Amino acid sequence: MRHLGTPGAPGVGLGRVWHVDRVVPAGGGLAGPGDVLGAFDAVAARLRARAEALRGDGLDEPADIAETMALIADDPDLREAAVAEVRAGQPADTAARVAAERYATMLATLPDPALAERATDVRQVGRRAVAVLQGGVASTVEGPLVLVGRELGADDLLDAPDEVAGAVSLLGGPNAHVAIVARALGVPLVFGLDLDAPDGALAIVDGASLIVGPSDGERDAALAAMRAAGERRAALAVERELPAATRDGRAITLLANVSTPDEAAAAVAAGAAGAGLVRTELPFLAATAWPTEADHVAALRPVLAPLAGRVATVRTLDFGGDKLPPFLDGQSLRGVALSLSAPDALAAQLRAIRLAGADTSLRVMLPLVESAEQVRGCRELLASPSVPLGAMIELPSAIDAIEAIAEAADFLSIGSNDLSASLLGLDRRDPRLTPASAAEPAVLQAIAAVVAAGGRHGKPVSVCGDAAADPSVAPLLIGLGCTVLSVAPSALDEVRALIRML
Ligand code: PEP
Ligand code: MG
Repeated sequence: MRHLGTPGAPGVGLGRVWHVDRVVPAGGGLAGPGDVLGAFDAVAARLRARAEALRGDGLDEPADIAETMALIADDPDLREAAVAEVRAGQPADTAARVAAERYATMLATLPDPALAERATDVRQVGRRAVAVLQGGVASTVEGPLVLVGRELGADDLLDAPDEVAGAVSLLGGPNAHVAIVARALGVPLVFGLDLDAPDGALAIVDGASLIVGPSDGERDAALAAMRAAGERRAALAVERELPAATRDGRAITLLANVSTPDEAAAAVAAGAAGAGLVRTELPFLAATAWPTEADHVAALRPVLAPLAGRVATVRTLDFGGDKLPPFLDGQSLRGVALSLSAPDALAAQLRAIRLAGADTSLRVMLPLVESAEQVRGCRELLASPSVPLGAMIELPSAIDAIEAIAEAADFLSIGSNDLSASLLGLDRRDPRLTPASAAEPAVLQAIAAVVAAGGRHGKPVSVCGDAAADPSVAPLLIGLGCTVLSVAPSALDEVRALIRML
């Protein structure tokens, strides 16, 4: 039987249903506080081991998420709340579940959407601790598994007991962590389905739909699709040397968005001409002070090493919003405005970028630019006329000031993720916001205005938001005159193939 949901991660997968939410009824252990703490320790250790293994495979984004969840398992507030429940007479597993639920509920009601989103992660950690207290997380179903849950979390994919062929979650959207991890791991994911199939039932996840108990024909079709996807990946990899040009000869420069050495190496291996966006803030999200010049050099050097001789577009710190380290708590400025409020720290980063990028064709890029004055202020601090300085266009105020910004900057890069959110009045994490939201008329019109302004001032315009890799939006961007697209390393082959068909 076919059920239709909302697509979260593409692909076709065939496996057996396993409900991750169905744990043994509570009340299994009358253990003491030490057992509850031991369970949270075990969860943290398992997640850290998983993170290390993922990092070894070059899967940094899922590894970061597993590490964040390990930090939640270490959270003193959560652990103390569970211990208090035990002291009040609750069995250990009930105590872990109740403490996690109460903490998650508190987070979910906070006005900050980034914190509210953590509620899912807290519940996942609580469920893991309950499973440990009840004797492990072994599935009774032989893999590959189709994971089914009311609200799947990233760690359900990361820490599954067997190979995961697909996943189905009632709650969540394309920007949820579970969807980011699913795309990175290549696990097809569907949202919005409340599934009542028994554990062990054969199921196919396919795009936006789920088939439970498929016919022989449906099963054969799924297997054929999975084989074809593998063959396609292999065939596209062979075409890496071919030019990224449309059939009528319009050449597109393909760059990559990177933040780790592995991603930079993967980008070069997949034929990127360089990096169109190096995100520099990610190593410093737990910082207790502005990073020093030495901190920046240490973080950047290994990322830029694989890019020697190629374009390396290094973005200055994009702190703010949901990327705010503890020392900036309560700060309302974001992006370049926040950096300009601490000019010594910004100057230190600019020096570090020039040092670390000496072997690359270096460019510096400013996030969330609002005015030409900001570009000019940063140019003074950069104090290096030979390094091109670009502005990211991702706010309505930048669209309003596009003429002056295009004049002041050496190049423009459209951050379609933030631009779509800000122009459509949606939070960046709203489930309704997807890479394809850049095709909304209001966003396309703004992109067209940026391309036109770049043209008038002879300044190149690129797109480095996720829309650049979206098959429904990339042709529109090229049609509007964008000649540079910067995409995740894993998307390079598909985007090149798409361009070659236009
Ligand atoms: C964007 O906003 O589109 C972008 C590329 O920047 P980030 O995703 O890092 O905010
Ligand atoms: Mg942005």
